[in-house]
Amino acid sequence: MAEILIVEDEISIGEIVEINIKMANHNVTRVTSAEDAITLINGGVHFDLAILDIMLPGMNGIYLCEYIRKHSEATGIIMLSAKSQEYDKVTCLSVGADDYMTKPFGMQELLARVESLLRRLHRTEGSVNSDEILQSGPFTLDLRSRVLYKNKQMIDLTSVEFSIMELFFRNKDTALVREKILEGVWGENYYGDVKIVDVNIRRLRIKIEEDPSNPQHIVTIWGYGYRWTV
Ligand code: CA
Repeated sequence: MAEILIVEDEISIGEIVEINIKMANHNVTRVTSAEDAITLINGGVHFDLAILDIMLPGMNGIYLCEYIRKHSEATGIIMLSAKSQEYDKVTCLSVGADDYMTKPFGMQELLARVESLLRRLHRTEGSVNSDEILQSGPFTLDLRSRVLYKNKQMIDLTSVEFSIMELFFRNKDTALVREKILEGVWGENYYGDVKIVDVNIRRLRIKIEEDPSNPQHIVTIWGYGYRWTV
């Protein structure tokens, strides 16, 4: 598990990146300005990898990249740039970035670049174990075998159901809007109907709730989405 910093002022992009990186078993800290990132770094917070948008309110991502690089050689840096920007790949790499992506980008590509950079930084070895098992109340999620247990009783899940549970486990007591679940589980390029989320939640409730018609764990938030609670 790596510590990853996201600096992105566009909330919707920041959120999707955050969800996807969490799903890839990393810790995420997300801020919306370079100044906030610098406050964290000056406070002694270490990040294995930083994903920096270039166009930010106040200090831009290029200066932030230089700042981070001055403070730590070990932090991997991926820059995000809009197509129309004056800063190109050469500029980014010259201020110490390790990689560069142009918006819009696919989430799978970003994840692939994150993992490849982490491998290059030799920071992923031996760090998976601590995160192979997620615990939430009477539920245990084994990420390696992709199996859910309730009070040590194994519950058979489809791959999609498992991914929803993982999203819930990583966002305990958090109201998740249905679109966010859709994007987090099916990916940002999936333009399906949010009803597919409801269908899977219904199936999950039958499998994990004592009384599926009166759910205690997957709680409906009317007109919004769902919340995992134990
Ligand atoms: Ca921006």
